[in-house]
Amino acid sequence: KSSATPTDGKMVLRLAKTLVARRGRQSACKAGLLKTGFRSFRSSTAVTDKVLCVLYPDPSTGFPPSYARDSIPKIEIYPDGQTTPTPNSIDFNPGELLGCVSGELGLRKFLEDNGHELVVTADKDGDGCEFDAHLKDAHYVISQPFYPAYITADRIASAPNLRAAITAGIGSDHVDLDAAMKHKVDVCEVTFCNSISVSEHVVMMILSLVRNYVPSYQWIKQGGWNIADCVQRSYDVEGMKVGTVAAGRIGLAVLKRLHPFDCKLHYCDRHRLPREIEERYSLTYWNDWKEMVKEMDVVTLNCPLHSETEHMVNADTINLFKRGAYLINTARGKLCDKHVISKALEEGQLAGYAGDVWFPQPPPSNHPWRDMPWHGMTPHTSGTSLSAQARYAAGVREILECYFNETSIRDEYQIVTDGALAGTGAHSYSEGNATSG
Ligand code: NAP
Repeated sequence: KSSATPTDGKMVLRLAKTLVARRGRQSACKAGLLKTGFRSFRSSTAVTDKVLCVLYPDPSTGFPPSYARDSIPKIEIYPDGQTTPTPNSIDFNPGELLGCVSGELGLRKFLEDNGHELVVTADKDGDGCEFDAHLKDAHYVISQPFYPAYITADRIASAPNLRAAITAGIGSDHVDLDAAMKHKVDVCEVTFCNSISVSEHVVMMILSLVRNYVPSYQWIKQGGWNIADCVQRSYDVEGMKVGTVAAGRIGLAVLKRLHPFDCKLHYCDRHRLPREIEERYSLTYWNDWKEMVKEMDVVTLNCPLHSETEHMVNADTINLFKRGAYLINTARGKLCDKHVISKALEEGQLAGYAGDVWFPQPPPSNHPWRDMPWHGMTPHTSGTSLSAQARYAAGVREILECYFNETSIRDEYQIVTDGALAGTGAHSYSEGNATSG
C-alpha cells in the first residue's frame, strides 16, 4: 500500500506473495497467478529466498587445490539419451573442486545476483549446529549424499518455509520421504549425474579385491617384495560369476563395463531389462536376489536404500552367499548390517568387502568397517569425482532455475513432488523412512 498506485499487476503479485508464503506455490501456478508476475516479483530483493547448502569441508591442504589436470572431457548425453544438465549458464570451470564449502557448488554469484541468500556450512550434526540454526527460515536445502545433512521428520517440522530438499548427487535416503510428503516439501536429485562415476568405482573395487591389490600396494609402501604374501589371496575375475542387485543406471553400467572381462554376468531387479540388452551382454536374470547370491563369486549392490532394502544383507541372508564371495556396496551403507559384514570377513564367509558408503557419514572412529580384515573401503568418494561435481553442480543450478522461474523440473529429477513420490522416486523408491540408525 505504501508503494505507488496499486495496479492490477501489483495486486496479482501481492496475492501471489501470500500464496507463496503459505507454501501454495503449486496452487498459485494452477490458478495462473504466477505465470508472468512471479518472475519480476522474484527478482526484487523483497522476496529473497534462503538457500542452505551443506558441503564437505575444504581440503586439509587448502583451497583451491593445485589441479592435476587442466580440463575434463565434455559429456553432453548420458547412455540412455537424457541430456546432461542444461542450466541457463554456469559460473565455474568444469573440473574445479565445487563440492566442498569454499567451492559452494558454484552457486553464489547466481543466487546473489538474483537477490537470494546463500548459506554454506559443513556444521550439520549435533545440538546447536549451524545447519539447524539456518534451517528454521530456509526455503531450499541442498545436501550431498557424501556428507549428508540428515533431513529428519523433526528437522522438516522445524522448517515451515522449506519448499525443497535438493540432493546434489543421487540418492535421497538422507531425507525422511514420508515427512517430506506429509509437509509437501519437494525432494529432487540430479539423476544420472554420477552413475557412470560410481560404476567405474565398482569395477575398480571388484578388481582390487579379487586381485588383492590394496595389501600388495601396502607391501611396496612398506619397502617389501613379498610376492607370496601378496598372491596367496589373488585371483582372476575371468570366468567368475558376478551378480548385481539392481540393474538401473549404475548396475547396468557395471555389467557393460565387466562384459569384456569375460565374467558370467547376472542381475536381479524389480523390472527386467529388454531382451536385446540381456542378449548383447549375455545376462542372466533372477527375480529373487537371495537365490542369485547363492551362486555368485562377486555380488555388487546397486539399489537405492528405502524401507524395502534397508539391512537386506543381515545375519540370515549373509549365510546365503557362497563362501568366499566378494561383496561390493557403493549404494548405501545401511543396505548391510555393519556387524554382520565385519563378522563375515573375520570368519571367511566373505573374502572381501569394499565400497564407499557408510552409516552415519562421517562414521565414528570406532566404526567396525575401519578395522575389519580384507576390506577396501574409502570415504564416500565414488560419485564426487571432479568430473561428477561439474554435472551435479550444473544440475542443482538447473533445478533452482526451474523453481525460481516456475517451470517444471525434469521428471527424472523428481523424487517427491507435491506430497507424493514422483518421477524417479515413484519408479525406484518405496514409501517409508530410512534416515534413522
Ligand atoms: P537408478 O537408475 O534409479 O537404479 C536403481 C535401481 O534399483 C532400479 O533399477 C530399481 O528398480 C532397482 N531397485 C529398487 N529397489 C530394488 C529392490 N528391492 N530389489 C532390486 N532392485 C531394486 O539409480 P542409480 O543411478 O543406478 O543409483 C542407484 C543407487 O546408488 C542410488 O539410489 C544411490 O543410493 C546409490 N548411489 C551411490 C553413489 C555414490 O557416490 N556411492 C552415487 C550415486 C548413487 P526399478 O526401477 O526397475 O524398479
